[in-house]
Amino acid sequence: MKLLLASGNKKKHAEFTRILAPLGLEVVLPASVGGIPDVDEDQPTFAGNAAKKASSAAQAHGMWALADDSGLEVDALGGEPGVKSARYAGEHGADGSNNALLLRNLANVPDERRTARFTCALALARPDGSIALAVEGHAYGRILHGPRGDGDFGYDPLFLFTEPGFAQTGRGFAELAPDEKALVSHRGRASRELAARLRAQPIG
Ligand code: IMP
Repeated sequence: MKLLLASGNKKKHAEFTRILAPLGLEVVLPASVGGIPDVDEDQPTFAGNAAKKASSAAQAHGMWALADDSGLEVDALGGEPGVKSARYAGEHGADGSNNALLLRNLANVPDERRTARFTCALALARPDGSIALAVEGHAYGRILHGPRGDGDFGYDPLFLFTEPGFAQTGRGFAELAPDEKALVSHRGRASRELAARLRAQPIG
């Protein structure tokens, strides 16, 4: 069965294909169905935005559709950047200025109050747009005082993973190889939860 991914991101496509292909689901990109409508990501929660994107894509093509929304929440900033993670400093996807603003806003905040978490929300919509399944994954850590590691995606260089008991504990997300990161990341955890739920209750 085909599942429309409500994102044109090739990395996400590869990641979801790896996880969902063993369940007999073929994840297809918007380009292969002639595109999907633009959606204003104006909801106050990651789950709300993921549901809105999944519903819109599903209804546009009468297909099952999967969408994700993710970001960083910092306790000392009242949960910011939150749903604005990609455009925290203004311009969408400007990692450098987003990270610089985050450091400025935490300038005088000591380590013990720099706690944060990444969240990834996934939503699966039926062909009529109703939501069949919604899951979330989290990864807990704290914000460093400067970049660490070679990975250059989003806020990774500033995020120290602190959950106890993992090989990744005490390392920066940008210091981890992609497979190591996926074992503890919000996106990896949400994706595995989605696969487990679909294995227990297949769709279609
Ligand atoms: P989106 O869900 O792909 O729109 O991502 C939202 C934004 O959250 C990204 O632009 C990044 O700034 C941030 N983000 C989400 N996941 C991660 C991650 O795993 N590492 C670093 N930044 C992330």
